[in-house]
Amino acid sequence: MAIFDPKTKVISGYQRSITEKQKVISKYFDQIGRLYYEQYKDMSVDVTKDINARCEAVSELYTEIKECELKILFEKGLKLCPNCGKENMLAYAFCYSCGTKFEPGSESAPGAVKSDKAVSVIPPAVEESEPETATEVPETAEADAGKEEEDKDKEGSEEA
Ligand SMILES: [Zn+2]
Repeated sequence: MAIFDPKTKVISGYQRSITEKQKVISKYFDQIGRLYYEQYKDMSVDVTKDINARCEAVSELYTEIKECELKILFEKGLKLCPNCGKENMLAYAFCYSCGTKFEPGSESAPGAVKSDKAVSVIPPAVEESEPETATEVPETAEADAGKEEEDKDKEGSEEA
């Protein structure tokens, strides 16, 4: 890929966005830990709601990161097989690896990502997030709140 390829710029924009989101995720994990400790110190404090709100936000951020990664792939002319996860050319109708048929339209740009928008400052209550929440995204079982431990493992492998 040429150095001045405009796609390179777009891709690095997405990558920056992913980095931002990962930073926010770490911050949330930090807060979750502190909230939990507060409760440990004083059993009368109920922080479940605060913790859950952050877990949900983290799940959503993971979903957004995944969307960014798909966008990056798209810019590179690739898409992921929903079955085996192998990278395929956008034009392919079937996965070259496992033969899974791609959904019609899979060769077009992935769903809207507000990737150029900087990640907003962490709100005290994280409920009011983006309209396309984790629930709408298929094959992201880990989008469920309360599964953040799985997500954590995932984060590691995805960064590799
Ligand atoms: Zn496949």
